[in-house]
Amino acid sequence: MRTLIIGAGIGGLSAAIALSRKGHDVTIVERDPEWSVYGVGIIQQANVVRAMDQLGVLDRFLDAACGFDAVEIFLPDGSKVARVPAPRLVEGKPANVGIGRRALQQVLGEAARDHGAQIRLGVTATSFADDGKAVTVDLSDGGRETFDLVIGADGVYSQTRAEILPQAETPQFTGQAVWRYNFPRPADLDALQIYNGPTGVGLVPMSADTMYMFVTTPEPGNPRYPREGIAAEMRARIARCSPQIRALADQITDDDGVVYRPLEATMVHGPWSRGRIGLLGDAVHATTPHLGQGAGMAIEDAIVLAEELERHPEVETALKAYRDRRYERCRYIVEASLAICKGQLGEAPPVDNHKATGEMFAVVSQPI
Ligand SMILES: Cc1cc2nc3c(=O)[nH]c(=O)nc-3n(C[C@H](O)[C@H](O)[C@H](O)COP(=O)(O)OP(=O)(O)OC[C@H]3O[C@@H](n4cnc5c(N)ncnc54)[C@H](O)[C@@H]3O)c2cc1C
Repeated sequence: MRTLIIGAGIGGLSAAIALSRKGHDVTIVERDPEWSVYGVGIIQQANVVRAMDQLGVLDRFLDAACGFDAVEIFLPDGSKVARVPAPRLVEGKPANVGIGRRALQQVLGEAARDHGAQIRLGVTATSFADDGKAVTVDLSDGGRETFDLVIGADGVYSQTRAEILPQAETPQFTGQAVWRYNFPRPADLDALQIYNGPTGVGLVPMSADTMYMFVTTPEPGNPRYPREGIAAEMRARIARCSPQIRALADQITDDDGVVYRPLEATMVHGPWSRGRIGLLGDAVHATTPHLGQGAGMAIEDAIVLAEELERHPEVETALKAYRDRRYERCRYIVEASLAICKGQLGEAPPVDNHKATGEMFAVVSQPI
């Protein structure tokens, strides 16, 4: 089938690989002409390691990443309360990894192109006409092309979602934001470390010699911070955290190295498609990062979508079957992540991170 994917992010690229491997003729349009990705990292847990194996890219993914086998949980005073083993879902490979976002894009982008997918940068879809047999798409470069299937993988503010499902849920600001920064990795950091408290902090190994810190803070009113002085703002956010975290504050000096992002979440509870146009990833289930599973869900979506398209000759039926297989797991991740967020904000009972992490591993270890 001729397939158009809108958005060359983690979900769109994974879909391009999964579909190309099954013989689809895939074109991706990506709105950003620079295809830019910010320079911190991302946690990819056991289910992603398994998914990368299923996509046939595990070795190059692991070469670009830093593997580890546990999540350590700390109290606000810095004492360690648990080391939760992460399940190894691919024999002989690490359970979890941390990876730079740019490195991940490179791995997925190269694999998509190797499988024949065409990636067109600086282009978007401006209108769709689905006549039941095919979708005619007007592109922003002036082209008009016809596809058997269109997939909107265009992220949390998906224009494709707005176009095909105008009544669907839209992202809501949670009251929290996240601050991220890269550091040299201490030699003894061999796990993802989570520090509990009203200010949640994590340290994530990202490569042999780098790690990144994420800090979740209440940000009432969703303020915007000027670039100048933002490193000082981040330092101030961790001034009352555990001694291990405070000890890193002096290194947060480069305003351009701070990546700040208000946290939003959304879950589309109704259909994820209309006719021959479907959605995946953050476009239908954008989660807060408290369980480190947003991208994992997008990558799994891509694999399930390709499987259901192979199983059902009718595109509409395949899209519905894909949504039905994915809905429960994605809903769980969005809601369980939001519960941690709301607990940190004091708007709901605090969540025991040890228990939540163990439960998340049990859920995502199940076959997709
Ligand atoms: C602060 C933070 C930390 C996170 N940490 C983790 C983590 O540790 N682990 C994890 O698994 N997940 C994490 N996530 C979630 C993860 O980043 C997302 O779930 C994932 O990026 C979703 O992939 P996607 O492809 O659906 O969307 P995106 O990655 O947002 O990609 C969408 C792409 O579509 C393009 N696009 C948008 N509109 C258009 C258009 N109209 N036409 C063409 N192109 C368009 C965009 O430029 C972009 O390239 C985190 C999220 C946040 C906010």
